[in-house]
Amino acid sequence: MELVERNDIEPLCPHCEAELHTAGFRLLSAWMGRRYLYFCLACHKTLGVSHRKGFFMG
Ligand SMILES: [Zn+2]
Repeated sequence: MELVERNDIEPLCPHCEAELHTAGFRLLSAWMGRRYLYFCLACHKTLGVSHRKGFFMG
């Protein structure tokens, strides 16, 4: 698979299809360590959880 950087189009929320110009995140403290939980600011649904800040499905 080839990754293509596209800054001219906005990713959409899979839940409400709002354009994700920005996404919210919250730092969770879990027994396995810290997690970043990302969510849509329009519908508040979770987009993904990552070990690392700024890295979506990591
Ligand atoms: Zn949404």
